[in-house]
Amino acid sequence: MNPENAPAPSSPAPLSIQGDRLYRSLAALGEIGSYVDPHTGLTGVCRLALTAADGAGRRHVVAEMRAAGLEVTVDRIGNVFGRRAGRDDALAPVMMGSHIDSVATAGRFDGCLGVLGAIEVVRTLNDAGRTTRRPVVAAFFTEEEGARFGTDMLGSAVATGRIPLADAYAIRDRHGRTVREELEAIAFVGERSELLEPPHAYLECHVEQGPVLRAAGLDLGVVTGVQAICWHEVTIVGKSAHAGTTPMSLRADAGVAAARINLKLRELVASGRFGAELRATMGVIAPHPGLINVVPGRVTCSVDVRNPDDAILARAEAEVVAFYDEVAKLEGVSITHRRTARTPFVPFAERLRALITAAAAARGLSHEPIVSGAGHDAQELARACPAGMIFVPGEHDGISHNPRELSTSAQCENGVNVLLDTLLSLADE
Ligand SMILES: [Zn+2]
Repeated sequence: MNPENAPAPSSPAPLSIQGDRLYRSLAALGEIGSYVDPHTGLTGVCRLALTAADGAGRRHVVAEMRAAGLEVTVDRIGNVFGRRAGRDDALAPVMMGSHIDSVATAGRFDGCLGVLGAIEVVRTLNDAGRTTRRPVVAAFFTEEEGARFGTDMLGSAVATGRIPLADAYAIRDRHGRTVREELEAIAFVGERSELLEPPHAYLECHVEQGPVLRAAGLDLGVVTGVQAICWHEVTIVGKSAHAGTTPMSLRADAGVAAARINLKLRELVASGRFGAELRATMGVIAPHPGLINVVPGRVTCSVDVRNPDDAILARAEAEVVAFYDEVAKLEGVSITHRRTARTPFVPFAERLRALITAAAAARGLSHEPIVSGAGHDAQELARACPAGMIFVPGEHDGISHNPRELSTSAQCENGVNVLLDTLLSLADE
């Protein structure tokens, strides 16, 4: 045969995922731990980490992994890995992942898109009979939300050595149950070492959980990094007293102290002294005993402060801590705090950002760089290997941690197609 007439050396045909299959799998996982919100009638998801519902969700996803031909292993902190062999199977794998645990009032997309998207990528490779040079791993990590045990990205932080396993095992939920006990209760203490061998690269597709992409009419966000985050669990102890008989001058009202701290957070942001990007929130305010006619003797509350700039966040945190002392004197209460999370700004790998950008462009998808306002497993994996994230827009102003959380089938499909393209570039390196 005349070589000039021979077909071009096979550059494999571009693959695409099945968007409807992906969306059905999101719906199926969303049934597990689902509940109907009595106020809105909407169906939400509650799969707090290591509860029975999380255990059921995990078993469902493990079955999906096995059905896709993945070899499933579990590590000692309950992280789950589904592996597809590569042609050079001893090479470090390319890992895709996220989480399937949820907050108490979740939708069905947060985290699940990255996990089920990874499995959909594997199915797509299987359907096309496509092998990759490197192994490919689809993973999900334990207690990403921090909603039950108070430390977010727990599983990925253990896997990458930031939190020792023994420390993680000993963390208790508000009922006093430890991570170790609860892992055992759902039978997810694996044999695999909790210390992850560094993958070649890590990719995570996730819903934006904010309004920016949708408002700009963009198909995707190429995530530049995750902003710095600081969490405090604050305990205020005053004096419980009768609301009718105790003169105002003799009160040590822990509730008023919490309110002052909450307002201080708003003032810090409004002052402009920390730039335009500071975010500060008191999401938990729990008075004890919590009765209408009793001055609260104790309040536990939370403080969440975030900024893309580490130095600015450090200054804001210092000011909040100094304010705790001020309020303690002013209100005659004692205030202690425990820092339950502090992560710096984590930049994602330039090279992965470039691959994601090129993949989006090649598919004709509109995209922009975006900073993640929320924490993600990818920021922990970034310690072990080059990491990158793809954001998918959300409807309803990108609301998340809420039953109204919604990304359309097309939005999810776009994100996971770019995940597929980026994975293929990396897995053949
Ligand atoms: Zn998430």
